[in-house]
Amino acid sequence: MPTYDIAVIGAGINGCTTAYHLHKAGKKVAIFDSKGIASGGSGAAGAFLSPKFAKGGELKELINSSLDIALDFYTTNFPEHINHHNLLHIAKEENDAKILHYFKEHTDIELLDNPPFIPENEYVYTSKSALVDAQSMCKALIEGIEFYTQEIDSLEFQDGVWILNESFRAKKVVIATGAYEHQFFTQPYQMLRGIWGHRIDIKTSTKNDISIHQFVSISAATNRMLSIGATHNVHYHPQRSKEPYNLEEGREELLEKASRTLELQDVEVIKDYVGLRSGSFDYLPIVGEVVDIEQSLKLLNKKDIYQKKPDLSKAIAFENLYMINGSAGYGYVLAPYLAQTLAKNILEEESIPSSLNPARFFFRWAKGERKD
Ligand SMILES: Cc1cc2nc3c(=O)[nH]c(=O)nc-3n(C[C@H](O)[C@H](O)[C@H](O)COP(=O)(O)OP(=O)(O)OC[C@H]3O[C@@H](n4cnc5c(N)ncnc54)[C@H](O)[C@@H]3O)c2cc1C
Repeated sequence: MPTYDIAVIGAGINGCTTAYHLHKAGKKVAIFDSKGIASGGSGAAGAFLSPKFAKGGELKELINSSLDIALDFYTTNFPEHINHHNLLHIAKEENDAKILHYFKEHTDIELLDNPPFIPENEYVYTSKSALVDAQSMCKALIEGIEFYTQEIDSLEFQDGVWILNESFRAKKVVIATGAYEHQFFTQPYQMLRGIWGHRIDIKTSTKNDISIHQFVSISAATNRMLSIGATHNVHYHPQRSKEPYNLEEGREELLEKASRTLELQDVEVIKDYVGLRSGSFDYLPIVGEVVDIEQSLKLLNKKDIYQKKPDLSKAIAFENLYMINGSAGYGYVLAPYLAQTLAKNILEEESIPSSLNPARFFFRWAKGERKD
C-alpha cells in the first residue's frame, strides 16, 4: 500500500499551497482530487489578488496582510503565472460608496489618481493588485508531488495511521475540500456555506489595461481576451440542485453586469468556468486541527462548553487530522498565508491564531446541541 507522510484531500488553491509547503519541507506528500487539479472553486476563480475595501475589522486586517504575503509568494516563486495590473474598484451603491470613501481616507495602501476613466460612483484606484492564472498556478504548486485523480470516500484511523480509500496510508491528513460535500468525514459543527460562481473568458475588441471590480470582476485584456467573473448564486449547488446550471443565463447575467461598468464590443464567449466558493459563518477561514466531537463531548464538562469565551484548546482533536477551508472570495489572497501557517503547525507545532481555529465552531455547535 503506498505510504505517505501527509495526504492532502482536495487540489484547490488551499490544498495545493499546503502540499507545496509540506513537500518543500522534505515531506512525502500525496494530493487527491475527485475531478482533477483546480476543478472546484479554484478553477473558476478570477483569480484577482486585491485588498478588502472595508472600514475595519479582523477580516480586513487578515486579508490585507495576507495580500502582501501572496503578492510576494506568487511573484517570487511562480512569476510566470501572475500578472500585475492596476485595480479600479468602484462602489456598487451608496453604502458601498461610504465605505470606500472611509477606506480612502484611512488606508496605508498606495492609491493612484489617474484611472483610465473616471467612474460616476466613488472608487479606489490602486497598484496593489494582480491576476493569477488560477489553473496553471495550482498545477505549478504541486509539480513534483504525487497527484491522484481519485475521490476519497473513506478515511479510517488504524494503528496510528490514516487509511484513505482502503488503498493509501498517511501519517497525517489535511482536508481541503472547499464547499463540496463528501461522504468520508462529517463535521456537522462547521456548516460551511457554498456560493456558486461563474467566470467567462471572452474575446472582445474593447481595450482594457486594468482590473475592474464593480458588479462583477473584469480582468485586463491580453491578446483581445479578458475574463468576467462573479460568485453570486446562493441557490445553485452542483451536488444538491435538481436542475443543471443554466450556462446561457449565467453568461447573459455576467455580460449585462459587466456592461454597466465597461462597454464591451464584438463579444464572443470562449470558455466557461464554474465552481463553488466556501465561506464560514463568521466569514473568517477555518484552519487547524479537526475536532473529535464524540471525544470532546465525552471529556469536556458543562462549564468548559457553556462559558462565554470557551478555551478552544480544551477541545479534543483527532490525531494528525487537519483542515483548511472557508476562504470565501479571497482564496488566492489567503492561501499563501493560511497554508504556511498550517504547515508550520503540522511540522513544528506552531500555534494557529484562535480566530481561525476550527474549534470555535465546535463550541458554538455544542452549546446548541448538548442535552445534559
Ligand atoms: C467564480 C469565482 C470567482 C472567484 N474569484 C476570486 C478572486 O478573484 N480572488 C480570490 O482570491 N478568490 C476568488 N474566488 C474564491 C476562490 O476561488 C476560493 O476561495 C478558493 O478556490 C477556495 O479554494 P479551496 O482550495 O478551499 O476549495 P476548492 O477550490 O473548491 O477545492 C476543493 C477541492 O476538493 C475536491 N474534493 C471535494 N471532495 C473531495 C473528495 N471526497 N475527494 C477528493 N477530492 C475532493 C474538489 O473536487 C475541489 O477541487 C472565486 C471563486 C469563484 C467560484
